[in-house]
Amino acid sequence: MSEDKNIHCSFCGRSKDEAEMMIAGVDAHICDRCVGQAGGILHAELGEKPQTNPLDVAAKPEFDFTPRQIKEHLDEYIIGQEPAKRTLAVAVYNHYKRIGLVPLPDAPEVDKSNIVLVGNTGTGKTLLARTIAKMLNVPFTIVDATVLTEAGYVGEDVESILTRLLQAADYDLNRAQVGIVFIDEIDKIARKGDNPSITRDVSGEGVQQGLLKLLEGSKVNVPPKGGRKHPDQKYIEVDTTNILFIAGGAFVGIEKKIGSRLNSATLGYSKESRQHVEEDEVLSYITPSDLKSFGLIPELIGRMPIVTFMSPLDKKALRAILTLPKNALIKQYQHLFHMDEIDLTFDEEVYDYIVEVALDYSLGARGLRSVCEAILTDHMFDAPGMEEKTLHITKEYAKAQIERSSLRKISA
Ligand code: ADP
Repeated sequence: MSEDKNIHCSFCGRSKDEAEMMIAGVDAHICDRCVGQAGGILHAELGEKPQTNPLDVAAKPEFDFTPRQIKEHLDEYIIGQEPAKRTLAVAVYNHYKRIGLVPLPDAPEVDKSNIVLVGNTGTGKTLLARTIAKMLNVPFTIVDATVLTEAGYVGEDVESILTRLLQAADYDLNRAQVGIVFIDEIDKIARKGDNPSITRDVSGEGVQQGLLKLLEGSKVNVPPKGGRKHPDQKYIEVDTTNILFIAGGAFVGIEKKIGSRLNSATLGYSKESRQHVEEDEVLSYITPSDLKSFGLIPELIGRMPIVTFMSPLDKKALRAILTLPKNALIKQYQHLFHMDEIDLTFDEEVYDYIVEVALDYSLGARGLRSVCEAILTDHMFDAPGMEEKTLHITKEYAKAQIERSSLRKISA
């Protein structure tokens, strides 16, 4: 086991443990996945069409995952967010199953199911999408919807999304065409106001129309190096049929819209069912129609039929995020110090203190990192030359560092 760990694929760096098979050469190794990919490149370069669908070459092992396995993998990295993890596991499984389907004469065509993740900033939306892409070993890119504009306006064309995906796939078209795109801040391109004739909003609705083209699955000419389309530039034709789009957004205030739909004006008792709906439960009632009332055009919503939500992170969740996930923040800092051969430890109460300060800033889990930075920056500055090889952080020290930092509270 430990010996296997030392053998790595010379192409992708995967260890023998992580690969199904490792083939040894002179002073080098290659894993089964890289052999598959290399085969795909050869086919493409030699002008032969691969006999199989792109996934057979690019990402076949991914079919080995069941939704349960996907969820279990997500559990290692993402705290809480059970409904979102389950929904995503099923959606991703179906998506890749659909791609792998052998077309039978009378078989129904399975539609693509892009996904919307609704939840506050720092609740793990990006992390979720990124973790899934990494697990499936497919190219992944994140785009910020707010920088996208309609062609002809200052900003990036929607096609730039595909440029980035191509780049993430090292320009391997087959791989890019089964990749995952995370579109962040989708709520920011909502149509402002419900009456388009009064609040004619060029950027928002125009971008939504542009995205529609990508989401519904079409062949799009993409400038490989990005930038504006230019008649002299050589384009790559990207087929978006099998690209999975996951959109994320905070949709601030959507609880109110859901609440009023549930007919419970004050988020209390629903008139019809007399069922009690707790404020933090309202999001779990989200449906695509709520996004419509928020300003996304119906056609776009129709192309993202799976809507799920990320709950705000409470104290308990933040505390867990700090130390439990595979790449938990504290583990990351310990690793950083370890590289300078320093053993970093904390008093348990420091963790609670970090959570308390982070909660004050309402940045979800993002706040945790800022707080840790403020506490550890001085030590990180000195770490490389430190004689003492153990470093223990007490609550007093943490508190003193926060009070000296930009996170300190302004005293009245
Ligand atoms: P969002 O996309 O919702 O704004 P991110 O996924 O970018 O949030 O989260 C920011 C960081 O916070 C992540 O990289 C991760 O370290 C941490 N984080 C957020 N939510 C969770 C969670 N539910 N479980 C574990 N870590 C989380």
